[in-house]
Amino acid sequence: MTNIQKHYALALHGGAGAAKGRDYGEAERHLAALAKTGEDMLKDGASAVDVVEKMVMEMEASGLYVAGRGSATNNAGYVEMDAAIMDGAARNAGSVAAIRDIVHPISAARAVMDQTPYVMLAGDGATKFATAQGLTMVDNLADYYTLPAGTTLADTQTETLSHGTVGAVALDTSGRLAAATSTGGVFGKPEGRLGDTPVTGIGNWADGEVAISCTGIGEYFILAGGAGKIANAIEMAGDTLKQAVWRMLDDVESLGGDGGVIAVNKAGEIIMAYNSEGMKRASVSSASALSATTFDPSD
Ligand code: ASP
Repeated sequence: MTNIQKHYALALHGGAGAAKGRDYGEAERHLAALAKTGEDMLKDGASAVDVVEKMVMEMEASGLYVAGRGSATNNAGYVEMDAAIMDGAARNAGSVAAIRDIVHPISAARAVMDQTPYVMLAGDGATKFATAQGLTMVDNLADYYTLPAGTTLADTQTETLSHGTVGAVALDTSGRLAAATSTGGVFGKPEGRLGDTPVTGIGNWADGEVAISCTGIGEYFILAGGAGKIANAIEMAGDTLKQAVWRMLDDVESLGGDGGVIAVNKAGEIIMAYNSEGMKRASVSSASALSATTFDPSD
């Protein structure tokens, strides 16, 4: 039997808050190993939505990023997290905002998508929902959550909004696109602060054409229109994927913000772009070799 190479693509990010001069080798090695796992899943016929959830779960559990275990506390001293997932083929989405005491916020978002008629649950309601779903919860914040590698306590006290969300976008061998994004938010955030991540169409989006995950100072992504602006530019202005991503990122910059985007389209094209100092990221596809890096040589 002929071995037909089916079309797939996967991109991951570990946040656009990477600062020059720091060593992100551990995160890069982790992203590379994860991309290999994701590639194997896609080659085996896994759905894009299962792959992006798995990728984000692993990043949440690693403590290497500002998401899940690596989330920093808000200025009231506890961890609140946001996550969103979207299945482009089903055009269904789920998200949780300001959720607490959970190991995998992305799985709570998935449960909102799969188990409810809603697309977003927030605060105590989201935490209670996740508990009722039987998802793994933690009741000792101090023991579970830890500052991500390369981050110091001083980062949490700076006035600059430092950040390090995680995300994954994938095209599976059946042509389905999906995106997932999870964050501990920005350091020093006040209680109840939400960024772009839990807002479907801003921090996270997937449809039949494109899957997008954003990272950066969420306020600016909300003001710039985020992932939805990219999808609209492709659909209505006829932009290429690259043009559409930069149209939105340039707008973020013109407003005074910075950050990055990973995106994949139904042709398997991958864009990983940022206007911050760096972005931890990895990608692999049926047409391109696996790579993982944080900075560009030209940075
Ligand atoms: N976008 C996230 C937020 O504003 C932070 C990040 O991407 O690092 O909550």
